[in-house]
Amino acid sequence: MQTNITAKYRQTVEGQTAESILRSCVHCGFCTATCPTYQLLGDELDGPRGRIYLIKQILEGNSVTEKTQIHLDRCLTCRACETTCPSGVRYGVLIEIGRRIVERKIPRKPLVAFKRKLLRTILPHPRRFALLLKLGQTIKPLLPDSLKRKIPLSQKATQWPQTNLPRKMLILEGCAQSVVTANTNAATARVLHKLGIQLLTAPKAGCCGAVSYHLAAEEEGLNFMRQNIDAWWPYIETQEIEAIVITASGCGTMVKDYGELLKDDQNYAEKAKQISQYAKDIGEILDKETLTQFNTTKSQKISFHNPCTLQHGQKLNTVVETILKRIGFELLPISDSHLCCGSAGTYSILQPELSQQLLTNKLHSLQKDSPDVIVTANIGCQMHLATRADVAVKHWIELVDENE
Ligand code: SF4
Ligand code: SF4
Repeated sequence: MQTNITAKYRQTVEGQTAESILRSCVHCGFCTATCPTYQLLGDELDGPRGRIYLIKQILEGNSVTEKTQIHLDRCLTCRACETTCPSGVRYGVLIEIGRRIVERKIPRKPLVAFKRKLLRTILPHPRRFALLLKLGQTIKPLLPDSLKRKIPLSQKATQWPQTNLPRKMLILEGCAQSVVTANTNAATARVLHKLGIQLLTAPKAGCCGAVSYHLAAEEEGLNFMRQNIDAWWPYIETQEIEAIVITASGCGTMVKDYGELLKDDQNYAEKAKQISQYAKDIGEILDKETLTQFNTTKSQKISFHNPCTLQHGQKLNTVVETILKRIGFELLPISDSHLCCGSAGTYSILQPELSQQLLTNKLHSLQKDSPDVIVTANIGCQMHLATRADVAVKHWIELVDENE
């Protein structure tokens, strides 16, 4: 794609990055067919190619309007378009740049601005999130059914083996996950323990930075990343650990991007690059281990929802399915498995109508063969699916853990 970026943007790293991405797009439109928002809305500007044009226009100095912002906001950042694109266009990077520029130019309506600030103030902080959840659970009986289902029960913390083992890994405990689905990381610790791996936590690590970063608060997101790097670095410096295990694929995608996002930060660039290399989804870890001790003969029909952040973000398309089949589980076929469930970080809160339509379609695919359980690999998808699923929704590692 030919571009004519203004001198103002060409002088910035942001502008140069965007220009090279724009130039790699041959505007073939293959990506449009696999875009969930284009499928729902049928408007070119609600598909990847249209959004790429909008961002190009912004960088070429054309006026930016509220309409531009609406089309960019409607993008789920699911990155299904990246998987489809034959030219390797890094759409995920481009949309973040576009959104940040628009954010600086178009002021948000006060209520929307408040919502976005509130999300950034609460979600990345487990104590604040736990307090809000407690409040929601207390008033839940007074709420209408439609709201009741949105307030999850918190799982009870379960046993986490503490035995000292020679092989060690570190886990990113996560923010929302550590509050709502604490069993996921405990199950991970138990499964790894059976494989002879001790799972450690770094108490000063926190949110991966995704909430702020995807809400166009770049510096706030980068500060969460720096905080994690500081917390994890001593374990890497001493070569105490083999990997940083991540059980929420949304967080995993973010941590794997630390190297790229902090490459211009003199103090953190090298550390960030190494941290990204250490980051592994729990699926990648189990994929390399002998799993015969977890073999099952249980007859259980399972639907696996592969989160966008796992299949499109981390390009781990079959790793979990392969593990579950290796140990004997029956996986049901899922149609349109490349499509987003509508959770997409804070999207389900900020774009509720589109999010609910995507959820309806996704549950239809996941439940059409009457599964006994739905499993997934990301806390956001898990909570979102559970609001309307007819069966239990779990993290897939819990199935492995239940298999004594
Ligand atoms: S498929 Fe790739 S090259 Fe084609 S329009 Fe989409 S982003 Fe551009
Ligand atoms: S990231 Fe997802 S929603 Fe956004 S343009 Fe690409 S396919 Fe469409």
